[in-house]
Amino acid sequence: MGKEDDRGEEYLFKIVLIGDSAVGKSNLLSRFSRDEFDTNSKATIGVEFQTQLVEIEGKEVKAQIWDTAGQERFRAVTSAYYRGAFGALIVYDITRGDTFESVKRWLQELNTHCDTAVAQMLVGNKCDLEDIRAVSVEEGKALAEEEGLFFMETSALDATNVDKAFEIVIREIFNNVSRKLL
Ligand code: GDP
Repeated sequence: MGKEDDRGEEYLFKIVLIGDSAVGKSNLLSRFSRDEFDTNSKATIGVEFQTQLVEIEGKEVKAQIWDTAGQERFRAVTSAYYRGAFGALIVYDITRGDTFESVKRWLQELNTHCDTAVAQMLVGNKCDLEDIRAVSVEEGKALAEEEGLFFMETSALDATNVDKAFEIVIREIFNNVSRKLL
């Protein structure tokens, strides 16, 4: 995070997206940053991030959101990926129970490599696929409560709750940081 004094006022928060392969991490990010959805699997492998400008309480906040860009397929998400993150979205696919089962492992990895992530949200993505839902809203909520996470179901496809999920995380980081500055 880069932050200047109260006059310079520049906030830059690193936020990481984690979760199993194909749960929709890249599409959540492209929906949030460019309002786009991509039906093709991406070809590039390697960490990517997007910087998104958000205004909170009249202040300009830059959210630098990192995407594993396929590295999780090889269990190759490194400690550098997590380093300095102030927020995390732990994503699963509501139509695949195995991706929900993985959440605890991702949380463990996050908290092992990163002690700065003050805002963590559990995200059940693909809520547009209600017909083939495998994880109930209640299960998601219960896990979030147990682990002390925010919770939201999203659809990167139809844009449900995507901006909201990122904004809650960004706002929570902002609130934590400004409390410390006072
Ligand atoms: P990642 O590997 O976690 O980054 O997942 P991707 O963003 O590449 O998405 C994996 C697949 O799920 C792609 O075929 C997407 O089109 C699809 N997908 C992603 N988000 C959604 C969603 O909200 N709803 C539906 N129906 N499909 C989605």
